[in-house]
Parts: sequence; structure tokens; C-alpha cells
Amino acid sequence: MKNMSLEKIAQACGGVYHGSEEMKQSIVESITTDSRQAAKGCLFVAIPGERVDGHDFIPSVFEKGALAVLSEKELENPAGPYIQVASSLEAVKGIAEYYRQQLDIKVVGITGSVGKTSTKEVIASVLAQKYNVLKTLGNFNNELGLPLTVFRLRDEHQIAVLEMGISHFGEMHRLAKVARPDICVITNIGQCHLEFLKDRDGILRAKTEIFDFLKEDGCIILNGDDDKLDTIEEVKGIKPIFFGVEGQKPVYADEIESLGLSGIACTIHADGESIRVTVPIPGWHMVLNALAATAVGRALGLTMQEIKAGIEALEPVGGRFHIINHGDIQIIDDCYNANPVSMKASLDVLRDAKGRKVAILGDMGELGENEEQMHAEVGYHAAKNKIDLLICTGKISSHMAEAAMANGGCGEVLQVPTMEALLTCLPSLIQSGDTVLVKASHFMHFEKVVEKLQEI
Ligand code: ATP
Ligand code: MG
Repeated sequence: MKNMSLEKIAQACGGVYHGSEEMKQSIVESITTDSRQAAKGCLFVAIPGERVDGHDFIPSVFEKGALAVLSEKELENPAGPYIQVASSLEAVKGIAEYYRQQLDIKVVGITGSVGKTSTKEVIASVLAQKYNVLKTLGNFNNELGLPLTVFRLRDEHQIAVLEMGISHFGEMHRLAKVARPDICVITNIGQCHLEFLKDRDGILRAKTEIFDFLKEDGCIILNGDDDKLDTIEEVKGIKPIFFGVEGQKPVYADEIESLGLSGIACTIHADGESIRVTVPIPGWHMVLNALAATAVGRALGLTMQEIKAGIEALEPVGGRFHIINHGDIQIIDDCYNANPVSMKASLDVLRDAKGRKVAILGDMGELGENEEQMHAEVGYHAAKNKIDLLICTGKISSHMAEAAMANGGCGEVLQVPTMEALLTCLPSLIQSGDTVLVKASHFMHFEKVVEKLQEI
């Protein structure tokens, strides 16, 4: 890792180096917090976790050839050098910030309430047509995940596409300090994390902390269909580039055509050029995500042909509208997370599916005091879309079921209070030819439902 000697690392995190003078200039080859991934030449960062304490693995990582260790504790007779810090989590951010600034790469930072991972995937797929790209793996988007992603950067990378997720004020400021994005993308200002951020204006304020470290020649790319983002006129003299499907934004799409579960086609327009594109993942929101990727692609010099190729090469991520064909039932595995916006979007795709339309929906978390109303709205939406069988599981989902029943649009509505009961009755509820949407907030662990469906 470029310029990452133990001495520099200790300086970057304000830690105290314990070890021999000659080892001080040794360069670390990688940085990890996972003792199982500790390899020759690495710096192992010991983090006191809830279940396991990383400090317990210090002897074993030295056996695996670790160059050094970062520890919150004083170590007696360690098998190699170590850097002592007050907080490993704080230290990791300081080190990542220093490392990022050693690298001559462009960083694309993506935030927003919904669709960060999905948008990150399209942006990375597009940019990979021209550049060597490193992207956040999975959902490593927080104050630990982001630094760990930065540590995976190497000289050969030209662009980093980084997901940045928050739930409190000040958090995005700290993430931006690490990432120093050259291009900032915000997908939308929704209704997640209302517990801490109060209302959508609070969310807007918290998310826009991403601009705090933006350079003068930076670029801001925003969803112009979002009424809150649309109010941003200028930041540090930089005018945002808006994308959207409502009205003619600088980057926009029209002639949108659903291809059922195979995806969604649209014509994308940017800089006076137009191109017909098939986004291989269904849902209207995927058009918006493709537009965000188009705007980023244009900002980084890609042609419309390259952008089209990147969008069409997109691969689904597990748990996010991942279509699984199991025998003659189709499972829409969208279990990774949920909120009112994405629930409604997924129900809209289900509406156009073949066969009997079944939605297994669970509780949505972190919605604040209006959570019952928001669950009811999803229930109304399911009824409006005439879902044949709606199964609601969880505590607050009863409001979803009640609203759907009151509306009368669904063929049948079932309220199953617990996961255990759901898994037991599932085989008797599903018929051949069904298309089954599975969606809830992450804490509901609806991946168990997807697993069970694949055993039927
Ligand atoms: P997290 O906060 O958990 O990291 P995220 O912002 O990364 O979430 P995704 O995982 O990309 O969001 O998507 C969550 C859900 O929202 C998925 O079900 C997906 O189908 C839907 N979705 C994706 N993009 C959008 C969008 N632009 N607008 C609305 N819904 C979207
Ligand atoms: Mg995510």
C-alpha cells in the first residue's frame, strides 16, 4: 500500500508505535479487521466487537505473518510491532483518510435514502467500460465499512465507487472526510432514519454533509425528480447536474417500457445525444439509477455507447430484486431491505408479472412516529395493484394487512404474526405458476423466506 509505513500509519491515527526502529519504515501490504483474512505483511486492526474482541486474535494473526497490529490495549511481549490507539474505530478513519490522499484516483461517493447499493452497482458497471474500478462490496457503507473499502484501493485502480450510508447528523461529514469524493451522487431524500433525523429536511441536511470536502472542480449529480434535492441550486460555486424522468432534466429518459421481470427499457438523453437502453433489472427506480450512472459516465468522459454497454452488463445483487426461477415458481428476492418507496416500487413490478401475484411483506423499520400510517399506505398500494395473495408478517405489518383488507383490492390477505408461523404455512400457500415477491426490512431476516421458498 502506497506510502503506508508503520510510522506514517501511527502518525495518521495519532497512535503510539511500539516496536523496533528498523520495522518502523516497513510498508503494510493490506489492512484488515478480520483475523481470518490476516495474511503476510498485513496490519491487523483489533476491534472490540459486541460478540468477539479482536484483541483475542492478536497472537494468531502474528502466526499468520501479520506485519503489525493496531491495538487499544497495551500488549505484553507481542510477536511483532504494534500501534496503540485510544479507539480502533477512530484510528481506522484517520488512516483511511491519509491513505486516500496518497492515491491519484477519482472517487465517486453515493448517498441517498434508498437505492445507494443499486445505483453504485450501475455506476461501477458503466465506469468499468473505460476504467479500472474498485467498488464498495455489498453494503460496506458506514464508518467502518467505508475505510475498509478505501484500504482495498491499489495503484492500478483509477476510480473508486463508494457507497456512503448514515443515520445520524455529523456521520456523513466524517465519511466525506475519509472518501473526499470528486463526484457526489444523491439518489433521493426519503423517509429512512426519521428516528434520528426527524423529517425530510433533516435528512437533506444530513446527506448534504457529503459536500463538505468537495473540491472546487468537483461535480454534484442529483435526482431532480426529488422535491428536496431539486431545491439545491449551487454548492461552493458548483451547479448540480440533475437527472430524472419528470420534465426534461439535463440527463433524462423517456419511452420507458416495462419488460416484465426481464427489466425495463428506456431512451436516455444527455448532452444532445440519445440512446435506447435495456436495464436488465426491473422497476421504474432502475431507470433513475441508470440515469445517475449516465450522468457520472458523462462527467468522466464516457461515450453514450460505453454507457449503454455498462448498463446492459449490470448484474443483480442478491436480495435486491434478484429473480430466482425455482421450478415453475418465480421468486423476486427483494428481502435485503424495505421502506415505503421501495415497497411500492416493487409492488408495481409485481403487478405486471405473469401468473398469480403473491407478495410476502414484512415490517419496515426506522420510520419514526408515522410508521403505522406508512405501513397502511403499502397495504393500500398492494390492494390498488390487485395482488392476488398478500401475506403480512411482523408486528406493525398488521396495519398493512388491515389497510389492504379495508380497500378490498387483493384476492386474499393473510396476517401471519411470526416468522415461525410463516415458514410453517408457506408450502400450503404457494402454487405452481406463482410469482412471489419477498420484501421487508433487513432486521426481519426475510432471507429465511427466500430459502424456504426454494425448498418447496
Ligand atoms: P441501505 O440503506 O440498506 O444501504 P440502499 O440505499 O443501498 O439501502 P438498495 O439496497 O440499493 O438501497 O435498494 C433497496 C431497495 O430499494 C431495493 O428493494 C431496490 O429494489 C429499491 N430501489 C433501488 N433503487 C431505488 C431508487 N432509486 N428509488 C427507489 N427504490 C429503489
Ligand atoms: Mg446499501
